[in-house]
Amino acid sequence: MTSQKWIYNFGDGKAEGNAAMKELLGGKGANLAEMANMELPVPPGFTITTDVCRYYYENKKSFPEDLKKQVKGSLVQLEKSMDAKFGDVKNPLLVSVRSGAAISMPGMMDTVLNLGLNDKTVEGLAKKSKDRRFAFDSYRRFIQMYSDVVLGVDHHHFETILSDYKHDASILSDTDMGAAEWEVIVEKYKAEVRMRVGIEFPQDTEQQLWGAIGAVFDSWSIERAITYRKIHQIPHDLGTAVNVQTMVFGNMGNDCATGVAFTRDPSTGKNAFYGEYLVNAQGEDVVAGIRTPQQLTVEERKAQHSDVPSLEEVMPKVFKELAGIRKKLEKHYRDMQDIEFTVQQGKLYMLQTRTGKRTARAALKVACDMVDEKLISETEAVLRIDAGCLDQLLHPVLDPQAVREVIATGLPASPGAASGRIVFTADEAEALSKRGQEVILVRIETSPEDIHGMEAANGILTSRGGMTSHAAVVARGMGKVCVSGAGDLDIDYGSKTMKIGDLVLRHGDAITIEGTSGEVIKGMVPTIDPEPSEELDRILKWADAARILKVRANAETPRDVKTALRFGAEGIGLCRTEHMFFDAERILAVRQMMMADDEDERRYALLKLLPMQRHDFEEIFKLMGDLPVCIRLLDPPLHEFLPHSEREMIEMAESSGKTLAEVETAANKMKESNPMLGHRGCRLGISYPEIYEMQARAIFEAASNVQKAYGKKVHPEIMIPLIATVEELILMRTLIEKTGESVMRETGQKLEYSVGTMIELPRACVRADRIAEHADFFSFGTNDLTQTTFGISRDDAGTFLDRYQRQNILLHDPFVTVDINGVGTMVQMGADRGRQTNKKIKLGICGEHGGDPKSVDFFANVPLDY
Ligand code: PEP
Ligand code: MG
Repeated sequence: MTSQKWIYNFGDGKAEGNAAMKELLGGKGANLAEMANMELPVPPGFTITTDVCRYYYENKKSFPEDLKKQVKGSLVQLEKSMDAKFGDVKNPLLVSVRSGAAISMPGMMDTVLNLGLNDKTVEGLAKKSKDRRFAFDSYRRFIQMYSDVVLGVDHHHFETILSDYKHDASILSDTDMGAAEWEVIVEKYKAEVRMRVGIEFPQDTEQQLWGAIGAVFDSWSIERAITYRKIHQIPHDLGTAVNVQTMVFGNMGNDCATGVAFTRDPSTGKNAFYGEYLVNAQGEDVVAGIRTPQQLTVEERKAQHSDVPSLEEVMPKVFKELAGIRKKLEKHYRDMQDIEFTVQQGKLYMLQTRTGKRTARAALKVACDMVDEKLISETEAVLRIDAGCLDQLLHPVLDPQAVREVIATGLPASPGAASGRIVFTADEAEALSKRGQEVILVRIETSPEDIHGMEAANGILTSRGGMTSHAAVVARGMGKVCVSGAGDLDIDYGSKTMKIGDLVLRHGDAITIEGTSGEVIKGMVPTIDPEPSEELDRILKWADAARILKVRANAETPRDVKTALRFGAEGIGLCRTEHMFFDAERILAVRQMMMADDEDERRYALLKLLPMQRHDFEEIFKLMGDLPVCIRLLDPPLHEFLPHSEREMIEMAESSGKTLAEVETAANKMKESNPMLGHRGCRLGISYPEIYEMQARAIFEAASNVQKAYGKKVHPEIMIPLIATVEELILMRTLIEKTGESVMRETGQKLEYSVGTMIELPRACVRADRIAEHADFFSFGTNDLTQTTFGISRDDAGTFLDRYQRQNILLHDPFVTVDINGVGTMVQMGADRGRQTNKKIKLGICGEHGGDPKSVDFFANVPLDY
């Protein structure tokens, strides 16, 4: 039997892999191979495939038998190429061990640098580099990283040792530590490991290597990586690859540097080289945001008002080579790249390239520019835009009229404006946001452990770290507002305060952050909705030429309707009439109507609601003109509308002339065990036809008034919710038609309208052929259809769905992305059966899934009409 190939080598201008092999080699490994093939200066190395990761998890965390031999072979090749030997006392080869999944998960998994150092090889490195300080600095970094990642000794233990030492020796900065000082630190670190794990720090370099490889595979299933995959909907069984690569050093002196860059500005999309670097530093120093990095170009340095020199000024030759590589990479990949590089003693090395994450605005600009530059086609440009990220363009911006007291400024890390109460930990952010509070997460810097808090917060503010720091990159990806590196903030977790000069802000105080300018503002500042961009218009035009679905919006207020129109909605797909009643004054009338003792009392309450509803519809019709407006008759889950608090009960008693006891009894009588499956939807219309009659009248009268006053032809579509049987629909349709006839008689106006139904119960899908005989349209209510197909309550799913995703039972939350195999089959059946008996029927979807890109892809293929 021939053995499986578990390893792919790269380096010296060639590679066994390429960029197309992401699934097997992970993004990092595939792109390292690609860059090596392009003859870019990549330190040689090898990639252990994701197959090994899957093997590892399927075989009780063990490795395939022949892997050891293959690793050995690749190491020998590396040694030849580098003219150094792994574990050799005189001439040691050092490697980095890094994770790399097919879909990038920045900072989520573990990395070990400087591997191959021990008490003996460190001496060899000192001699070879003629820099003892560098050698021991590297060794202490290695001990800390390895112990944290492989041995489980948290890095803060090491940081405490270092800061205590510096304090005692009155040393201010790491750069003031000499070789002798680092040697002392190395001994202290080893003692710490001995004390905490009860073993000597491993001296055997082979053992080190296998420890690190195992730890990288283990990091695939740590909490923060799982959370990240859940948020970004990455399958849990992809696995990570492991990249073992020759170390190059950016910290060997002042002719060394390390940096990260984007081939275009990831925040605005501007076609300018954009990045940050640090002289005499290792990669993690830039990414972790521990030192605030310097700009790459003179232009950017000036824009940031910095007088610390740029790479362009400090190392002009290296900069020129890097700028050449930037061009080459863009031409080759035909997309904006995010790169990492290191300069070792004046020589440039490329450590990584990948598709650069960008804001929605930047994505649009880059795509449009690349069309103009003839790099990509219009169709490609549309496909380049992650539809989900367009959300960012819908984020509010600060009202320019509002007074703002700017108390600090940081970097404009992720655009938009957000307000909230200050919290200092991710857990607090999560807890308070679960209670419905708006919070801003304030941290010195963020780490992957903070993901859940960043997700829960309205925005993120950090006092340290550049535009490529963890906070900045992750927030940008999430579409969250972020201001990073606001250096004037003095954050103290202990006392839960944030000081700016004399000003002290505490946990719970309100602030606003503006991620486009970097401003930090005291208090809550009003915001306004954004204007769509020119680039968005271009992209949407290209998308219009290709799409097959019509697009309607869910909207019930004139404000929402205006927004929908501005963004090109071709109709209203769902106007939830119960949402028109959430206003304090109206809800009383609604309660009176629902809790009425008899029809007379109910009609009395309905009489109050009729003019309000009519007015609402008039406003919507005026705005929509002859575009279709689909209005759904009342569908209130009763529990959302009944009075709960004593205050609400008293109000209700006062306005209806009942006693408090009577109100309480009535409310109790209406309480349901399963309100979501209770007296809602058309069931209410069946019990109290006068409700639907009033609504139909309000619609017809509004249509008639608008037609008369504005000469506009109005096309209301009246939709019945929660239909299970055709008999329900027939009854309700008859009621509507009768009301329509009355209004037409009364007003002398002819009205064109249609009547259709929600399809949101499995029975309706099964019986869609019969139902379609009496419906002009179907709109799939995939929220309820998901609830009823799964038998999972929409309101209670949150408590356990999480575990389903963790255990791979469900890849997505089915209330966010439609469950294609189950609920999708229901939709398909409903559509097919409906079209069987009614060739002209119009089909749409109005559940929240209509805003989810993956689900839209499915609906387009059913195919639905809108
Ligand atoms: C649905 O169930 O998908 C729907 C759109 O209606 P609602 O969310 O109002 O129940
Ligand atoms: Mg519904």
